[in-house]
Amino acid sequence: MDISSIRKEFSILSQKIYNRPLIYFDNAATTQVPRHVIDAVTQYYNESHANIHRGIHYLSEKTTAKVERIRMQVKDFIGAADSSEIIFTNGATESINIVARSIEDSFIKAGDEIIATIMDHHSNFVPWQMVCKRKNAIFKVVPIDENGNLNIDALKTMLSAKTRLLALPYVSNVLGSVNPVENIIQLAHERGVPVLIDSAQAMRHERINVQSLECDFLCFSGHKMLAGTGIGILYGKKQLLTSMQPACYGGGMINSVTEQNSTYDELPFKFEAGTRNIAGIIALGAAISYMEKIGMDAIFEQEALLMDILEQKLKNVEGISILGSPKKRSGVISFNLEDIHFFDVACLLDKLGIAVRSGHHCALPLLHNLGQSGTVRVSPAFYNTCEEIDKFIEALQFISKTIRK
Ligand code: PMP
Repeated sequence: MDISSIRKEFSILSQKIYNRPLIYFDNAATTQVPRHVIDAVTQYYNESHANIHRGIHYLSEKTTAKVERIRMQVKDFIGAADSSEIIFTNGATESINIVARSIEDSFIKAGDEIIATIMDHHSNFVPWQMVCKRKNAIFKVVPIDENGNLNIDALKTMLSAKTRLLALPYVSNVLGSVNPVENIIQLAHERGVPVLIDSAQAMRHERINVQSLECDFLCFSGHKMLAGTGIGILYGKKQLLTSMQPACYGGGMINSVTEQNSTYDELPFKFEAGTRNIAGIIALGAAISYMEKIGMDAIFEQEALLMDILEQKLKNVEGISILGSPKKRSGVISFNLEDIHFFDVACLLDKLGIAVRSGHHCALPLLHNLGQSGTVRVSPAFYNTCEEIDKFIEALQFISKTIRK
């Protein structure tokens, strides 16, 4: 991979902050946006901006056709069977909430059970907790083992005839644990339980094919895969989505409306009430094209290589404790430095030009479980370099030596 020419696409990376070259290691929070994507959005606003699906004029039809081509592109990207299974949302959180609201109305009753995991992001935890509270259903949480792997034996004992849904992350946004989702989905399906995969952290690390995974729902955000904020995808199996109630009502999702009654449009529009983030959809299409041009395998390999180097070098920093050592880790590493608060570490790194995330990472149940109030989280992307890792390690060693008691 020619990293230097790739970096030219990301002009944000060549700036200096506090008079030092920016090192951006917060890619799990959001990735940077390449010129290819920015140009596609600029071109859209300069040449084709119009509302979609409702107009019969040239611009509206042109942009509607483009949006529907991107729906096909997303379908192919995740290996879905039909483009009507692809719903444009504003991000993974909204995708998960649509499923939660919809299955609450359609399927959940008192005494039913929903299972999530202790390593879920709040976005794939709180919606299920709330559904259970409102419906007097039981919310179960799968634990992890001491290395940060999901405890599959515990999961087996939790799945029952009362389970209505299993929700889990493909990759943990704190530990980087990659869950064996294929096996887990099989286990759940053997007991008749549908599975929702939160793949927000997996899109740049794992090849996703929803048909071979057989997942029932898949949710992710464009901004963690180069597309910028405000666009996400909900994938759902057609049969399930068809049987579910809409989660949001209004324009664009109806078939007919009278004074007292409404009927709903077909998939996917039934779940797309109101005007979509059209520029976001254009950005997502451009981001997928850009990544596919580089090659998804090349991106996976480069990110895995950077993670290996990072993990090896981090282990040698004095006073460091790295959270978890899962069987397979990708995307993120969380750590703390002995005697230094994680906010102080992140603040000092920032002043040295290095952007990392610090805090609870929207995963408080996991942090409590690990006995931590927060961590520093570092997450490289394929446009980062080995030299940046070296500078980061040097900075950490400097902080460790000069600040620790
Ligand atoms: N799930 C996981 C695993 C995440 O890392 C995130 C974002 N940090 C989300 C869900 C929520 O994504 P968004 O804020 O884009 O909706």
